[in-house]
Parts: sequence; C-alpha cells; structure tokens
Amino acid sequence: MGGGVGRKGLRFDEGEGWRYTWGASGKATMKVRIASLLESLEAEGVGFLRYPLQVVVDLEDERNPAVPMEGTFYFLREGKKFLISGTFQGSVQLECRRCLEVFPSLLEVHIEEEGLLEATLPPSEEEIWTEDGTWLLPLEGWLDLKELVRQHTLLALPMSPLCRPECPGLEREASPEAQGDPRWAILGEYRRRLEEGSSA
Ligand SMILES: [Zn+2]
Repeated sequence: MGGGVGRKGLRFDEGEGWRYTWGASGKATMKVRIASLLESLEAEGVGFLRYPLQVVVDLEDERNPAVPMEGTFYFLREGKKFLISGTFQGSVQLECRRCLEVFPSLLEVHIEEEGLLEATLPPSEEEIWTEDGTWLLPLEGWLDLKELVRQHTLLALPMSPLCRPECPGLEREASPEAQGDPRWAILGEYRRRLEEGSSA
C-alpha cells in the first residue's frame, strides 16, 4: 500500500492527502483528505476518480480479526453531492449454522454512499450525520476509506451461513433416524422441511 493510483497514475502521498494513523489499539486506519480527493477529481478530467485499494479489516469476531479486502473505489462529484461507490472482495471465516464447522467463504462487498460536501463545517475526522440521515462531508475533513470497507463488509456477512446447501447438521449423526429406525425417518424429513422453510 502507500498512496493510491488514479486513472492517470495519480498518487496521494502521506502528508499531502493521505494519512495512516495508529489508534490506541494499535490498528491502522487509512484516511484521505476530502479536499485532496476533490482536487484529484478535477485533475483527472474524466468526471470520476478510480481508486484501487487493499486494506486489512477487523470484523470484531475471533474468526475474522484481520481480513484482507481488495477492490476499487470510485468517486464522483455532482455539485454538492459526493458519490462513493466500490466493490471489494475478501475471504472470511464463517460458522455453519447447522454443523458449526468453520469454513472459508469468498465475500463480495458493494459500497454505495452519498455525502453532501459542506464548505462551512469545521474539519472533522468523524462521520457527521444529520437527523434525517444525510451524511455531511466537511471540505477540510478526512474520509476513512478503511472504515467504509469494514462497515460494508460487516453488512455483507450472511445472517445464517451454511457450509454447503445439503449440510445435514450436527445432531443427525447421533439421532435415531441415522441409526436406521424407519419410524424416525418421516420425522426427520418433516424437520428438514421446517428448517428449509425457515431459511428461505
Ligand atoms: Zn455445515
């Protein structure tokens, strides 16, 4: 990592528009100055800025403390509106809801956010939201790209993951129908349908 490359090979270097900070927890953040982004956007002259990025995000569960995510941001300005989109990929560890096995899963994360550029707001590194849910971006503020990827990765995690669609689950191995008593088979089938119905 170390700066980003735009469509024409533009670079941000730390000190100008880039900042890597280390929080109290020792985890790096990756922030870019909003004004620098806008300047670069104008310099690109193509209406948008393309921004490939690799970040390592902490999903705050013991299985995924450091997930490498790779993708591209696109920045676009329309008057006061600032549009941020992107697609990122990474491999996360999930726990199967039936058999409780942990398995790797490729995750694709789509980002689409819209902020309002505000020249009059004081510089801020925190996100500012109005009561009606509008995201305000101070011109002299900083955008935390890594946090954006992290938040959207959390949102993209499946609610009830399965290691494979036909996973029989844990209890089946020990249950009576697995031991061959046909009277249990019909019950097992009923339970399977219930489970499938509830997961649809
Ligand atoms: Zn499973």
